[in-house]
Amino acid sequence: MSFDSIIMVDWSASNTPSPAKPSKDAIFVGQDDRRPVYCRTRAEAIALIEERLRNTPGRILLGFDFAFGFPKGFAQALTGRAEARAVWAELAGRISDGKNNENNRFQVADALNAETPGEGPFWGRPAGLNLAHLDMKKRKTAAYPEFREIEGQAKGAKSVWQLAGAGAVGSQTLIGLAHLHRLCEAFGDEIAAWPQDSGWAMPDARITLVEIYPALLDRSPLKALSDGWDDSDPIYAIPDAVQVRALCHAFHQAQAQGRLEAFFAQPAGLSDAERIAREEGWIFGVFADAPSLQPPPLRNDCFALPPGVDWTPVDDALALLKERLTVVTPVKTAPLSQALGCVLAAPQTAPRAQPPAPNSAVDGYGFAHACLGDGPHRLPLMQGRAAAGIPFTDPVPYGAAIRILTGAILPDGVDTVVLEEDVSTDGQAIAFREGVKPGANTRKAGEDVELGAQLLSKGHVMRPADIAHLASVGIESVPLHRRLRVAVISTGDELRDPHEAAGPGQIYDANRPMLLSLISDLGYEPVDMGRLPDDRTVIRAALSEAARTADVILSSGGASAGDEDHISALLTETGAMSMWRIAIKPGRPLALGMWENTPVFGLPGNPVAALVCALVFARPAMSVLAGAAWKTPQGFDLPAAFTKRKKPGRREFLRARVVDGTVEVFASEGSGRISGLSWADGLVEIGDGARDIVPGDMVRYIPYASFLA
Ligand code: AMP
Ligand code: MG
Repeated sequence: MSFDSIIMVDWSASNTPSPAKPSKDAIFVGQDDRRPVYCRTRAEAIALIEERLRNTPGRILLGFDFAFGFPKGFAQALTGRAEARAVWAELAGRISDGKNNENNRFQVADALNAETPGEGPFWGRPAGLNLAHLDMKKRKTAAYPEFREIEGQAKGAKSVWQLAGAGAVGSQTLIGLAHLHRLCEAFGDEIAAWPQDSGWAMPDARITLVEIYPALLDRSPLKALSDGWDDSDPIYAIPDAVQVRALCHAFHQAQAQGRLEAFFAQPAGLSDAERIAREEGWIFGVFADAPSLQPPPLRNDCFALPPGVDWTPVDDALALLKERLTVVTPVKTAPLSQALGCVLAAPQTAPRAQPPAPNSAVDGYGFAHACLGDGPHRLPLMQGRAAAGIPFTDPVPYGAAIRILTGAILPDGVDTVVLEEDVSTDGQAIAFREGVKPGANTRKAGEDVELGAQLLSKGHVMRPADIAHLASVGIESVPLHRRLRVAVISTGDELRDPHEAAGPGQIYDANRPMLLSLISDLGYEPVDMGRLPDDRTVIRAALSEAARTADVILSSGGASAGDEDHISALLTETGAMSMWRIAIKPGRPLALGMWENTPVFGLPGNPVAALVCALVFARPAMSVLAGAAWKTPQGFDLPAAFTKRKKPGRREFLRARVVDGTVEVFASEGSGRISGLSWADGLVEIGDGARDIVPGDMVRYIPYASFLA
């Protein structure tokens, strides 16, 4: 089943008519390849849409950019039925929306907050509008989840409870759903909403209603389908007009390629799919092509340890992480120029040989080697020359020579080049000594890269040399994993930020700046979540916020099992946490767990332990999450310049540096001694067993740089 026409609507919750001149943040109605229509009011837009629906023959796909449902539990609480459609009907009865956009959405939200059981979820309103049950700010606790399942997966989507402020979608949703209900009433059996009415199937009705979210387009595989239409009309200076036009184009492209029907399929890995379809809904096309392009979520129990494990040796911990983790970042095609530091998502093969044709490796004179008799040689010189990019197109007669420069294609009749320095010439002929080998000073076609050869494998992290390698065969764009986003949280009542005054019981936060810069160094995108007090409610909210924006969370502090160890307590609450008591020094227990589908590395608070655990455990794990290979740092065996007696049982990492070929270690092993981290250039790793090290014994030294490679 295909669609004959595609209509995409960029909706607005404005209180007044939009300006007469087409402007942004107003309503645009796009249809197929037609110029999007600017509508000053919702009434005008609905009239236009109804007219288009009546007069366009055939099957129509109709998209609106607001949420078609609310997070779990709200529909039931409001209407007694866990169905989005029941909420639409309820809102249609409550929302009034006048000819000039005058509407009562804030009052309705205020009433809904007052009426529904538990704390009202809606928030955000104009400062001047005082409503008893509608706050300006988000509440710390609310009776309903902040996000629908789809918003949890499509990182970056806003909460539908938020009615005002940048990017808010709540107001559009309240008003929009009332209109959707009326539209459905008007068209009866002719219209059906996906997935609310059809489950995870393409509806049969003539008009299919879907929720879209153009702002997420950039991160969706649809992006690749959305280009290639004529945007010269000045209306496309307005982003909203571009969005509806680009979406119409993308969906048409997908349909032409036979991929559109797959967009209706039930998303992989949903545990509660039927309820989600009915109650919450989904954003159409946001994970289009999901099976190959959107990695499946990590298992919630991916950090669970085998039962009965007490102290886990470092190698076992690493093996477990290596086995359990998989890539989490989606894939997007980007120009090669943007690939530096990114992870390649597919192997690259050569579309062309390099060099494409045999050519000269030096400046000199070319000829056919077979024509040479005994030396010394004298060959008549042809007029003209062969230069790089400017070939000599005539054949060179047997027995003659031609002037040739480095990189020039060998003309027909030339297979050997003699170096200019080895030749004397009067402009008419050349003379040179014997001893030139057949094929000397030439490069064969494909000697660097043969046509079709594999250049780089999937998971390769792109360096400048790799960019040259791909560019040399004309590769213009490559599929890349989106950079891994890593959120960093510091916890501790004692912590202060640099601009703050610090009392005697307070210390400056060292871990967060350290971890944020480590993440940049590793080529990932750091997300600073700030420092948090030892307050479980605050930390809980921050973890959720971090899980929304990032792919992985690194926290420091509060990872043990004490009173103020909230990170481990919270991760335990979700049931998805494992306290990893790893036999490592420095490093108290590492708390590893999943928070809302996002892996959390709860690092120790002591800065030395935090860095060692981040380098030893989080770094290779993040490499896998980012789409690259597991990484083992390159170490070097060097003679020790120190004495150390070590007991068996734990692996130890010492702050170290190399001076004159021997390894020195920092005087103190205290895990609070940040100065030693900075004094060092790397770490010495001493194995799990007992060791008695005296100067001259070989020890394994791992430079910091090995962790970044
Ligand atoms: P915790 O793991 O929270 O018990 O912290 C262990 C030790 O590390 C305590 O002495 C903390 O004050 C210290 N610490 C925790 N977080 C940081 C941080 N971000 N920067 C510097 N020191 C910290
Ligand atoms: Mg603490």
